[in-house]
Amino acid sequence: MLADISAESVKGYVDRLAAFGTRHSLSDTESDTRGIGAARRWIRDEFERFSRESGRSGDLALRVYMDRHHIQPDGRRIDVPAEIVNPVCVIPGAMPEARDRLYYVIGHYDSRNSDEMDRVGDAPGANDDASGTAVVIELARVLSKQRLDATVVCMATAAEEQGLIGATLHATDARDAGKDIRAVLSNDIVGDPSSPFGGRHDSRIRVFSEGVPRNLPENGLRRIQGLSAENDSDSRQLARFIGEVGAWHDLPVRAMLMYRPDRFLRGGDHTAFNRVGYPAVRFTVVEEVYERQHQDVRVENGVQYGDLPEFVDGEYLAGVAKLNAAAMMHLANAPSAPGDARIITARLMPETILRWQASPEPDTAGYEIVWRDTASPVWTGSIDVGNVTEYTLKMSKDNHFFGVRAYDSDGYRSPVAFPAAARR
Ligand SMILES: [Zn+2]
Repeated sequence: MLADISAESVKGYVDRLAAFGTRHSLSDTESDTRGIGAARRWIRDEFERFSRESGRSGDLALRVYMDRHHIQPDGRRIDVPAEIVNPVCVIPGAMPEARDRLYYVIGHYDSRNSDEMDRVGDAPGANDDASGTAVVIELARVLSKQRLDATVVCMATAAEEQGLIGATLHATDARDAGKDIRAVLSNDIVGDPSSPFGGRHDSRIRVFSEGVPRNLPENGLRRIQGLSAENDSDSRQLARFIGEVGAWHDLPVRAMLMYRPDRFLRGGDHTAFNRVGYPAVRFTVVEEVYERQHQDVRVENGVQYGDLPEFVDGEYLAGVAKLNAAAMMHLANAPSAPGDARIITARLMPETILRWQASPEPDTAGYEIVWRDTASPVWTGSIDVGNVTEYTLKMSKDNHFFGVRAYDSDGYRSPVAFPAAARR
């Protein structure tokens, strides 16, 4: 699958999207050549092409649709009634016990220039965010050829630049419908590895994740304080997981873990999912070149401004797509992370007892316990404990953080479940 992901393919999507002139969320929707309407119909047509080429049918057929929302002026970046449309391609999982688990890859296909309200002028939005949209389209293409246990949802979002609107409307509907979204990978500005200081970052992509969740249940902060779990949210476990996947497969572009939700002065669609309680992370290049972002296309004092396709590197972007695709293969084929993971703290003892619930997928083959020193940012040790739901380690529970993950008979590992403390 990874060999099927190519620079030509992803760069081709970026060039095509930039050629719609502008994809501003309030731009023309009637034209077949310019504006956000033409862009979203092209994305949908690509998804439908993959559907035909996939050979899938019945329950496993791709489901391609437009997630439409009518909104009114909001006094901020929407000044007329508008239709916000997210093209979606659902790749259904094949395992009955896993198919309700949803894994999202998203990128916003809308664009902007210097004036966030300019719906007419050119806004090629090549890096921001045709690049992320290209990752979404490429994953739909290659993952639709795979048999997956759980369901993958590839979605291009609209109106990110107008206030995360398309993602927020989708995430809120999903929450209200009780959808079981286990992970969201948001790709936003993932195609230009150059540094504003000179040089390049060809082998790294930043992966931002929240530490303390934005959406905390009642007593959530007290629970985090009791467990010292401020660095162990589900989003952060997802980020570490993406880091490990890159290393397992020796991928050309690997995660640079960012222990903060996002950059200063900027936001992104992953936050829309975090706000309603779903684990979500953001992929973004290592350093951003602001002359090429949210800028009118122009030359000033010999400097080229504007978010042009020539600044997107197809090889690097393909590497980012490979990291996303490999993470999705693991997430959608591995068992669920073990439920109700807990450290037994009934009495003082030098050993550490961990218990958890068996993952429900029938191909679950066993479990690994992972650990790290309390000052370590990533898991540093692991032990395969076999197909059990309790294990005692000769290690101090005070001196380490522990986690549990499940693996299946093919060796696909789940993200880590971070244990609570319990008396039994
Ligand atoms: Zn963006």
